[in-house]
Amino acid sequence: MAVEGFDFQIERIVSIIRDTGARVIGLQFPEGFKRRSPVIAAQLEAATDVDVIISGNPCFGACDLDVALLDKVDVLFHFGHAPLDDNALQDKVYFIEVRSGVDVSDVVRKALPELSGHRICLLTTVQHVHKLEDACRILEACGKECVIGHGDSKIAYPGQVLGCNFSAGRREECDEYLYIGSGEFHPMGVALATGKNVLIADPFVNEVRRADYSRVLRQRSAVIAKSLDAQVFGIVVSSKPGQERMQLARQLKEMALRHDRNAHILIMDLVTPDQLLQFKVDAFVNTACPRLAIDEVGRFSAPMLTPQEFEIVLGERDWESLVFDEITGD
Ligand code: SF4
Repeated sequence: MAVEGFDFQIERIVSIIRDTGARVIGLQFPEGFKRRSPVIAAQLEAATDVDVIISGNPCFGACDLDVALLDKVDVLFHFGHAPLDDNALQDKVYFIEVRSGVDVSDVVRKALPELSGHRICLLTTVQHVHKLEDACRILEACGKECVIGHGDSKIAYPGQVLGCNFSAGRREECDEYLYIGSGEFHPMGVALATGKNVLIADPFVNEVRRADYSRVLRQRSAVIAKSLDAQVFGIVVSSKPGQERMQLARQLKEMALRHDRNAHILIMDLVTPDQLLQFKVDAFVNTACPRLAIDEVGRFSAPMLTPQEFEIVLGERDWESLVFDEITGD
């Protein structure tokens, strides 16, 4: 059963509720789907006699399971994301991936004249992974070679990219990439990680454009420049199970000390500019969700560096080898 063009797998959820005998269930939605949650809760309550509790906490990825709600329910349904290797073993959690019904074939055909390379690697988010084989057939029918890369253990499906993991692109030899989806962040990350062209085919608006990270690089250059004289760093760690990188934070702190700078590790659940406002440091280094430093640029009370940018500030890395931060698996 589809709700507004997306398949929320209501029948599957009902059968899981029946099979597990769950009496109380939790529903957790990413921000873009939250407004649909009352309709879905009502459908589930009408089809079964469960109590439904909807998580109101922000949710940006599978890294972000509502562990407090998990304690209060028999089963938690987490919508919109594929599992990560860290949380796939949570036996009370079911990931409802919510595939998009939008057709991608028109926009893939539209992209074809823009692809100059022969061997094309296809990438997308979990919303469209079920359409990659169709897209491959279209490319192959026009004489291209098509590959769908396998990512590391954080990646549930071939060809899938996350905002913090571009391994499905990095691991595959190809001439260029075709990213199917909306938004700029994932294709920009792939372009920076590989140094190759990434063409974006956006099926929602039927538009083809090149991933262009020049504006982001200018912003990152400014953040690095502002941090060069920083003496005291706040190294930010998220306690969310899928984001927590305490070991990396400790390594970064040691690196700061080796360079005669001070660094303090700050741990919190959700990392926001407001959450960091009261910490008087010269610069922050983010080890939580890698998107934060890029998406929220300019909104923090001090420059917010990625770990790779911090290395540049300390002279441990060249500007030319700057890449987006990633949370990688095995
Ligand atoms: S860490 Fe950030 S980019 Fe990675 S899955 Fe979580 S929300 Fe998405």
